[in-house]
Amino acid sequence: MIILEGKNLRKTYGYAENKVDAIKNISIEIEEGSFVAVVGTSGSGKSTLLHVLAGLVKPNAGKVYLQGESLYDMNDDRLTRLRRRKMGFVFQFFNLITTHNVIENIVLPIHLDNRQVDEEYVDEIIDLLKLKEKKYAFIHELSGGQQQRVAIARALASKPAIIFADEPTGNLDAKSSQEVIQLLKIVQRKYHETVIMVTHDEMIANVADRILRIEDGQIIQDTAQKNE
Ligand code: ADP
Ligand code: ADP
Repeated sequence: MIILEGKNLRKTYGYAENKVDAIKNISIEIEEGSFVAVVGTSGSGKSTLLHVLAGLVKPNAGKVYLQGESLYDMNDDRLTRLRRRKMGFVFQFFNLITTHNVIENIVLPIHLDNRQVDEEYVDEIIDLLKLKEKKYAFIHELSGGQQQRVAIARALASKPAIIFADEPTGNLDAKSSQEVIQLLKIVQRKYHETVIMVTHDEMIANVADRILRIEDGQIIQDTAQKNE
């Protein structure tokens, strides 16, 4: 089943001689439960594509459908609510709240959304992401890899339909990067989550089921990978 669809997307920044066509007529379908990596050099349009698909940047043309709903045909309040309910985000800079401990960070979006925390499920995620010993630790007590695992746990905790990850290992050394990405893969598989991840790192992209290569605002390659 297709969970997310982008149709004829275009995004242009600036105007006149400063005009940049960041995304040039991209169409894409994301299969539910798949792990998709978007790769390409710096400036190729990866982040813009991710932000357009996540309802964060309105395209100049084209449509984005999440589970059949058109993101840019609803009002801002509705889109914000839909993002909270259905999307999880993992960023390069972990965006954790330093005045809160690990578990508080993980459940914060659920509380902000006035929803009930599924404690058993959250504990299971914490366990899978190897954060059990750090459950009550503060963010400054954690390594970069641990902080990113907390951010992944937070993204998963509200059981989103899809997780958007923007250079999730961009701020980590090679060893922590591999560890973080392998753990993300494990939880993705276990809960049949859909993940779309932007990375410039080919080694990291290798965990994905599918690699989309972007160049100059266009998809130049779309490869399925055998991955158990
Ligand atoms: P990538 O993520 O692959 O590095 P981006 O999507 O960030 O690529 O950028 C694609 C192009 O759009 C680049 O030429 C970049 O300079 C330009 N761009 C991105 N964001 C903006 C912005 N907010 N304003 C103007 N130009 C932008
Ligand atoms: P925007 O202001 O761009 O609409 P939202 O307020 O909808 O963004 O937040 C996007 C996501 O981040 C949601 O999942 C939301 O629950 C979460 N969120 C918002 N504020 C915080 C915060 N202070 N700490 C952690 N997560 C937050």
